[in-house]
Amino acid sequence: MIVTGNVSFEGINLHESNPESLKKIRSSEIRYIFQEPAQSLNPVATIRSQFRRATAVLPDKLTEEGSFEILYQAGIQDPARVLRAYLHQLSVGTIQRVLIAMALATKPKLLIADEPTSSVDALLRLQILGLLDSVRRESRMAVLLITHDLEVARRYADRIAVLYAGRIAESSDTEDFFCNPRHPYSKLLMNSQITFGKRLEDIPTVNGSTPGMGEPLPGCKFGPRCHKLCGDCLKSEPELIDVGHDRKVRCHCWK
Ligand code: SF4
Repeated sequence: MIVTGNVSFEGINLHESNPESLKKIRSSEIRYIFQEPAQSLNPVATIRSQFRRATAVLPDKLTEEGSFEILYQAGIQDPARVLRAYLHQLSVGTIQRVLIAMALATKPKLLIADEPTSSVDALLRLQILGLLDSVRRESRMAVLLITHDLEVARRYADRIAVLYAGRIAESSDTEDFFCNPRHPYSKLLMNSQITFGKRLEDIPTVNGSTPGMGEPLPGCKFGPRCHKLCGDCLKSEPELIDVGHDRKVRCHCWK
């Protein structure tokens, strides 16, 4: 499989960065919150030692008071107990808050949050997403939120990019997207949302499954599952085209 493209961050092509600069960017300017919070921490080290490690890149060593302040900011009311604790002594919600605090401690410019609420209940989900949103506003940090939940995307995102088979199918301002999705896959996603009062038989289904990243498939990757499939779709893979109003769509028949 041939993989092409580039990843730019503040004008720097990360593919061409040397390992030393990459390490600096990853440990301070771009931080990541993983899906399974419990798997992101070491079970045999205290939170304090892991917190110190996560903030070792700071020019000035983080003081105990500084750690408390960041943990408070992440919604932890008893930071002294949490810093002394081991992983098994904390709830999932607290672990996720600790990870958010660790990520925020270096004042990143970009936080990538990969399904940060996939393993928590609905109440905690709202709290954690609300926390990320308020920290984002206060610190003017960008958040790249990866989610399968369209309602979460609608509520928290300024822009949306819908991915299919590793490619952007559509990208748009959030409100424009929800008012009028253009790509057939986006339309299916919208129609598949379960809402109160909607009957199961009214929810569309789609045959087949997403192709693997390296699977050779001529034409459009969504073709085998698309109800709008036409001749052109099988001949060439559509480009991501600018359709105006700051929107892009990867479809031959987006109109
Ligand atoms: S290019 Fe064709 S197959 Fe692909 S999404 Fe558009 S209409 Fe469907």
